[in-house]
Amino acid sequence: MDPTYDAATDDYRHSIRSFLSDNLPADWRGIHHLAPEEQQRFTEDWRRLLAERRLLAPAWPAEYGGGGLSLIEQVIVHEEFAKAGAPIGIPTDVLSIGMLGPTIIICGTDEQKRHYLPRILSGEDRWCQGYSEPDAGSDLAGLRTRAVLDGDEWVINGQKIWTSHGHLANWIFVLCRTDANAPKHQGISFLLCPLDQPGIEVRPILNAAGSHEFNEVFFTDARTPRDCIIGNPNDGWRITTQLLAYERGGDSTTVPLVVQAILDRLIETARERGRVADPLVRQQLAALQTRSSVLNGSGLRTLTTALSGSPLGAESSLSKLQWTELYQDITVAALDILGPDAAAHLGTAPHVPLPPDAMGDTAPGGWVTHFMCARPASIYSGSNEIQRNIVGERVLGLPREPKPASAAIPSA
Ligand SMILES: Cc1cc2nc3c(=O)[nH]c(=O)nc-3n(C[C@H](O)[C@H](O)[C@H](O)COP(=O)(O)OP(=O)(O)OC[C@H]3O[C@@H](n4cnc5c(N)ncnc54)[C@H](O)[C@@H]3O)c2cc1C
Repeated sequence: MDPTYDAATDDYRHSIRSFLSDNLPADWRGIHHLAPEEQQRFTEDWRRLLAERRLLAPAWPAEYGGGGLSLIEQVIVHEEFAKAGAPIGIPTDVLSIGMLGPTIIICGTDEQKRHYLPRILSGEDRWCQGYSEPDAGSDLAGLRTRAVLDGDEWVINGQKIWTSHGHLANWIFVLCRTDANAPKHQGISFLLCPLDQPGIEVRPILNAAGSHEFNEVFFTDARTPRDCIIGNPNDGWRITTQLLAYERGGDSTTVPLVVQAILDRLIETARERGRVADPLVRQQLAALQTRSSVLNGSGLRTLTTALSGSPLGAESSLSKLQWTELYQDITVAALDILGPDAAAHLGTAPHVPLPPDAMGDTAPGGWVTHFMCARPASIYSGSNEIQRNIVGERVLGLPREPKPASAAIPSA
């Protein structure tokens, strides 16, 4: 198989390459080669430029300040930025531009679109996602954070956890129980709440690599205006699932590119250390390369499905299983190959799960950091066990997984 893109797309690819070479610093080697404070300054300036050139939200319609790009153009933007090690936005943009923006575009009122979308693009509003709770993760509909109307305001009480980038955000989109007597999927509302207020406390949680990426968020009589809701009260479950319909496959071929770059780095490291003379190491690397090639083929198949206009269905579950397990296994192989040299915990942690410049730090200890950062990949965005359930039911047609009783939620 030697898949190629349509020749008509070449011009667009060249224009993106020219944009990158004209605007990235001359000695650019990827965002992780900058010192942490320079990374922040560069990313903010770069974000402003992308917003100006309509590349910050390539998938949003042009009328809302997005790129209004076709699917194939979005793919090209993602691929070329990944190859150049250039970020598209800041960490909270995954949630603001990738999740909340599309939710508002699909389900928000015209007034909400006019108010929130430009503030996301300007960076004035930076969002985090308040779904998971200590007792509601995979079974998200079991959530207990409550909101009740008090005059013109919602009053929120409860706790969210694993809130990525909550310390960098000023707003949270939060799923709350607004009817305790309804069946559990039917009593939830999708509220928008400012974080900077006395009723909210954001407490850091350090991850296994020692980085501050996520948080706990406590709501004690926190308040938000009555109209800070997407959709109707108690319709929040439908709103969260609507977002899936927006999935277009714009980055389906980017993840395989980044995973291959990480594997290339490992093969280079094994060569430098003379480890490729060991037949067991060669077998290990060949097995990883085979899986990476399969991942690449799957990405192209997903893109083909998306381009044909068919819904993506269970493709995203298959892709998530493939890339997260391969990413983890590459980092395990790296520790095997480096042996005790990998033990020194040095190196830069990636600021996103799959960093755009793939490895960032070439020091042997950088692999330990990557090993730890790869661990949660099989948990977030729906754990791999849940993805296997989806593949079992929707691809293989196996009997449905027994669900917990859908009774009303007892008081917390
Ligand atoms: C790095 C990271 C960032 C995150 N960011 C956010 C965020 O920004 N906002 C947010 O709201 N949440 C976030 N999460 C939370 C994430 O969505 C949950 O961790 C995830 O949904 C799993 O829920 P849980 O941790 O409660 O585990 P549980 O649901 O308690 O699951 C525990 C174990 O049981 C397995 N399991 C559960 N149910 C089933 C089943 N039916 N069949 C088979 N196995 C099952 C799971 O796979 C898992 O291995 C983040 C998590 C991580 C790791």
